[in-house]
Amino acid sequence: MRLAGKITLITGSGSGIGRSSALLFAQEGATVIVNDLDVNKGNETVAEIIGNGGKAICIQADVTNPDEVKAMVDEIIRTYGQIDVLFNNAGISAVGPVHEIELEQWDRVINVNIKGVFLPSKYVIPHMMARKAGSIINMSSCVAEIGLALRPLYGATKGAILSLTKGMQVDYAAYNIRVNALLPGTILTPFVENYLKTSYADPEAAKENLKKRQLSGDMGTPSDVAYAALFLASDESRFMMGAPFYIDGGATFG
Ligand code: NAD
Repeated sequence: MRLAGKITLITGSGSGIGRSSALLFAQEGATVIVNDLDVNKGNETVAEIIGNGGKAICIQADVTNPDEVKAMVDEIIRTYGQIDVLFNNAGISAVGPVHEIELEQWDRVINVNIKGVFLPSKYVIPHMMARKAGSIINMSSCVAEIGLALRPLYGATKGAILSLTKGMQVDYAAYNIRVNALLPGTILTPFVENYLKTSYADPEAAKENLKKRQLSGDMGTPSDVAYAALFLASDESRFMMGAPFYIDGGATFG
C-alpha cells in the first residue's frame, strides 16, 4: 500500500477530484480527513470509504475562515498526532470577461481559491516542520499557463497558486516538506457539469467543444487527477519539489 499509515487532509473532498482522491488515498492505506463546506457531501465521501473498508472522518470547515481551519487542524492533531499530506484541493470557478465580473464575485473567488490554500497551509505546516516531513499538494490548473476565454479571474487565482507553491517549496525544503502543484486540463466533475449547464444554451455542444481543448480530444476523469495526487502524496515522488504536474491531455501544449 502506497500510503500506509499516512494521515491525509483533503480540502473540498465532498465532490469531484477531491472525492476521487480521498477514495484512492484510503484504498492505498491512508486515513483520510475529508474536509468540505458541504457536510452532507463530505459525509457521503466518508461513507463510501468506510463501506470499502477504509479509514476516514469528515470535518466541515470553510477554507476561507481562519477559526474553522485552525479548529480543524487542531482536531486532527489531537486525534492523530500528525498530518503527513495536505491536499489543498477546494476551489470554485468564475466565468466572464473582466468588465462583467462583479466585485463580490472577484473577492469570493480570490478568497476561496487563494486564501483557501494559504490558511490550511499556515496551520498545518508548523506540525510538518516539527516532524521534518510532509507533502503539500496545491490544486492549480492548466489555465494558470494558457489564456483561456472568459477565465481571467479563475486563471489569475490558479497562477497565484503556482507561484505560492514555488515560494513555499523554497521556504520549507530544509524541513523536508515537499510542495507541488497539480495542473489539470478539463476534468468532467460536478464543477464542469454545472458550468456547462449555467453558461450555455446547448451544454452538449459546449461539452464537445471543451473536449477539443485537449490534444487527447476528450476530457479527463477525476481519477486521472487522483492518481497524480497519489504519486505526489507518496514517498515515490520524494525528489519532486516545487513542480508543476500537468494532467491535461496536452491542453497546455496543444
Ligand atoms: P467540485 O465542485 O466537484 O468540488 C469542489 C468541492 O470543494 C465541493 O465539494 C465544494 O463544496 C468544496 N468547496 C468549495 N468551496 C469550499 C470552501 N470554501 N471550503 C471548503 N470546501 C469548499 O470541483 P472539482 O472539479 O472537483 O475541482 C476541484 C479543484 O480542482 C478546484 O480547485 C478546481 O479549480 C480544480 N480544477 C478543476 C478542473 C476541472 O476541469 N474540473 C480543472 C483544473 C482544476
